[in-house]
Amino acid sequence: MDRDNHFDFFHYDKCDLCGECFYRCQYLKFNKKTAVEEMKKLIEGKPSKVLKKCISCNACNNFCPHGCRPYELITRRWHKRYRRNGLPVRAEYLMPSTTSNFRTDMVNRMSKREQELVETWYKTPPEGELVLYPGCNTLALPHLLDASFMEGVVIAGDWQHCCGEMFFRMGLYDEVKRTAEKLTGYYEDKSIGTMLFPCPACLNMFTNVLPEQFGAEFKFKTKYLGTYLLEKIEAGEIRIDREFNQKVTLHDSCHARILGEEVMEGARQILEYTGVEILEMELNKEEGLCCGIAAGANRYSPFDIVFSSFKELWQGQKTGAREFALYCGGCNITFNLCRWFFPTRQPIRHLLDYLKEACGESGYNPSQKRSKFMLFNILVKSFPRLLSNKTFWISRG
Ligand code: SF4
Ligand code: SF4
Repeated sequence: MDRDNHFDFFHYDKCDLCGECFYRCQYLKFNKKTAVEEMKKLIEGKPSKVLKKCISCNACNNFCPHGCRPYELITRRWHKRYRRNGLPVRAEYLMPSTTSNFRTDMVNRMSKREQELVETWYKTPPEGELVLYPGCNTLALPHLLDASFMEGVVIAGDWQHCCGEMFFRMGLYDEVKRTAEKLTGYYEDKSIGTMLFPCPACLNMFTNVLPEQFGAEFKFKTKYLGTYLLEKIEAGEIRIDREFNQKVTLHDSCHARILGEEVMEGARQILEYTGVEILEMELNKEEGLCCGIAAGANRYSPFDIVFSSFKELWQGQKTGAREFALYCGGCNITFNLCRWFFPTRQPIRHLLDYLKEACGESGYNPSQKRSKFMLFNILVKSFPRLLSNKTFWISRG
């Protein structure tokens, strides 16, 4: 048995080997018998086909009827691999811990207004009844929060206080633990009532992963920005001036599946208030596919990310909808990057882009154009290192 208790989050005592987790996985394509056999192998610490095919979408945690956390049986193996081998250098430019990375390098491509926003959020102390944590992805696309409906909310955050989601997905548990300690220390003496999160990934990290699994302690409440906005729309405090009257399809994020209906249904309700008709994909909500970014966690392969992203873009295309909507900042960046290789006609738009425009505000959306520069930087700084055998550890100790 693979039981050294170190970062061991799987509930062995609750698992009845029903196989439901891997049977329902959209990527493994196992029948029930194989699902059970492969689960046994994982529990016993043996090689398993799951370790080769898993794209780290996290959905199996949702599928388990007993809350056993099968996903962490997989990522724990990657944690051990990282401890042993480190990461290939091609991944360095993509890590949030690298000072100059694919997201921070976008600042000098932003409009003056966006640069001022990032600078202001960086300097603003995170204190107040309602504080918003932008997270790395919204810092790379700050126009999303440049809206009248954000009045009364203190937006405060910087690249140094990343939520650690990327480390968690890759099984870099030592780095997640360090993130939990750093964030606990940073927010310890800050007076915050409720922290709002525009990104489901940051919300899940602060609400569930960091406190429950990595010992973080936060005194503030956490809330999805969409829930806050929906309450304001329903109270008549946000006025919708324009209705879109068009058909869109909607992509759900992996973390939203964990957070549940409040996030997934909340996003749908806001979109419907803007007048759009949602054409659901064949695989949606709990059974939906990942944007592709998590697929890089297994083999650190950019090709796995791109091909995985294509699968979901194709799902969207098949609905016949005019546009492809989403509500996670990370998915927004990934799809905009990958669509340069996929011939979809559907424009990709964030939920906040729709809401801003429906409120009569600017339709300025630099996501697609900015992703071109992002892709260029990744090609220049990561691709030449694709064949290198060199490795690195983010921090050792
Ligand atoms: S994390 Fe996703 S891809 Fe991996 S086994 Fe679980 S459901 Fe399947
Ligand atoms: S982890 Fe959950 S879903 Fe998977 S085999 Fe065990 S009990 Fe069944």
